[in-house]
Amino acid sequence: MSTPTPRKKYDHLVKLLLIGDSGVGKSCLLLRFADSTFTSAYITTIGIDFKIKNVEVGGKRVKLQVWDTAGQERFRTITKAYYKGAQGILMVFDVSNEDSFVNVTNWMEQIKDNASLGVKIILLANKVDVVAEERVVSKSMGEQLAAKFGVKYFETSAKDDHNVGESFLALTTDILDEIVDDKQ
Ligand code: GDP
Ligand code: MG
Repeated sequence: MSTPTPRKKYDHLVKLLLIGDSGVGKSCLLLRFADSTFTSAYITTIGIDFKIKNVEVGGKRVKLQVWDTAGQERFRTITKAYYKGAQGILMVFDVSNEDSFVNVTNWMEQIKDNASLGVKIILLANKVDVVAEERVVSKSMGEQLAAKFGVKYFETSAKDDHNVGESFLALTTDILDEIVDDKQ
C-alpha cells in the first residue's frame, strides 16, 4: 500500500513587500495584519524581516509572506534582492507627513527599476486616525496620486485597525486574479 502524499497546506505562496518612508507605520501595519496587535513604539530597532499569514481568498488558501524593510528605508539602500520574487507591494505614506507623500513618487521609480514587471501595487494612506489638524494629505490628494500611478487606494489606520486586513486582501485578490488569468 502506498503512503498518501501529504496534502499541501496552501494553494499559493505569495510574497508581498511593505515600502515607504521610515515612520509611516509599515511595521505597525504588519503587526496589525499578522498578529492583531499595535504598539506606539518605533519598531525599527527590533526590526521584523517578514511575517507569515495564511488567508483564504476566493476559495484558495494563500500563504502570505510579508516583508518589512526594518529600518533600511533610505533611498538606494534597499537592494534588488529584496524586490526579487515579490508579487505585490503595499506602498505606504503617512497622512500627517507630507514628505512621506511626496516621496511616494521616488519610491515608485525605485520599484519600477527593481521589481518585476507584473508586480501589483496598492497605495496606503496610513494614520487616518490622527486629528484633523495633524492631517496634511487629504483623501483627494491620495486618490489623485493613486490614479496617476493606476493603483488602488486605501485609507488605513494600524492603530484603529481600519482597512488593514481589507487592503492586504485586496492586493492578494489582484495577484490571484492575474495567476488565474495566466492559466487560461
Ligand atoms: P515604520 O518605520 O514605517 O515601520 O513605522 P512604525 O510601524 O515603526 O511606526 C512609526 C510610528 O508611527 C510609531 O510610533 C507607531 O506607533 C506610529 N503609527 C503607526 N501606525 C499608526 C497609525 O495608524 N496611527 C497612528 N496614530 N500612529 C501610527
Ligand atoms: Mg519599521
